[in-house]
Amino acid sequence: MRVLCCWLWLSLACLGCAAESSETVPEPAGGDARYTIVTTTAMVTDIVQQVAGDRATVTGLMGTGVDPHLFRPSTSDHSKLLAADVIFYSGLMLEGGLDPVLKKARERGKPAFAVTEEIDPAYIRYSAEFEGHPDPHVWNDVAAWSECVAYVAEALAKYDPPHADEYAANAERYRAELAALHQYAQKVIASIPEEQRTLVTAHDAFEYFSRAYHIPVKSVLGITTESEAGVEDINSLVDFLVEHKIPAVFIETSVNSRNIEAVMEGAAKRDWQVKIGGTLFSDAMGAPGTYEGTYIGMLDHNATVVARALGGEAPERGFQGKLAATP
Ligand SMILES: [Zn+2]
Repeated sequence: MRVLCCWLWLSLACLGCAAESSETVPEPAGGDARYTIVTTTAMVTDIVQQVAGDRATVTGLMGTGVDPHLFRPSTSDHSKLLAADVIFYSGLMLEGGLDPVLKKARERGKPAFAVTEEIDPAYIRYSAEFEGHPDPHVWNDVAAWSECVAYVAEALAKYDPPHADEYAANAERYRAELAALHQYAQKVIASIPEEQRTLVTAHDAFEYFSRAYHIPVKSVLGITTESEAGVEDINSLVDFLVEHKIPAVFIETSVNSRNIEAVMEGAAKRDWQVKIGGTLFSDAMGAPGTYEGTYIGMLDHNATVVARALGGEAPERGFQGKLAATP
């Protein structure tokens, strides 16, 4: 039997506390003193930073390469969360390990917001296998993540009403960039010849990407990041690659590439050479301080690398000419 995805079992183990609402009445910040925000994943950190601007110091808990499904806050993470003025997290049961400390923070009257709190329900995907559980990887659809940016501005306006206009303006400016990125991704993915337009990766973090940019996705492991694929999973993927002459498969920064290698070897035995099209960012972004370490850079990298490796047309340096040159 297929092993449950880590985000599923974490959330199942934590159903009792997942019902917590973020309807805490925030205390207004007042004045112009900088306040502190603690965030979880780098994707959340980036959009909160964009909207808060200079009003707050934003500290993210999860660095490069951290698997948010498995994240457990350390003692120092606990202290940071409880000392913050405001907390933002991704939500949709992504960070199941944080539930106890979020509960504690809320009991102390601390505002804690899931950025996905008010996203249009039409955007949310639910796992076919386990009805009722959302797929948390919503940042892989730029239009959906852009709604979260709007929500961050609303949440900060509740916390700090005197600067509401500033947060709204920051969100609007950033969302215009996201709209352009979304269009770019649609365009470059659409340029891949239809027969080859399938994204083969190690785990199912790309279902939102698939839906938003119209590229079917196949993964070796379904929705888990933890188990090893069975021989049947590998063989059926090999059949697919050979039959459709798919030129490339993709590895992910936070997931072991062993299964993908097995698939490539299987195809090679049948005289179909598949190359590694590149490394995609799925649950974590690139190194801090680099373009790929921003949300826009992460999505630009993924769309550009996929389009180019599968025979589509995309500029080597991506959407804004800022991607690192390929070696
Ligand atoms: Zn994931």
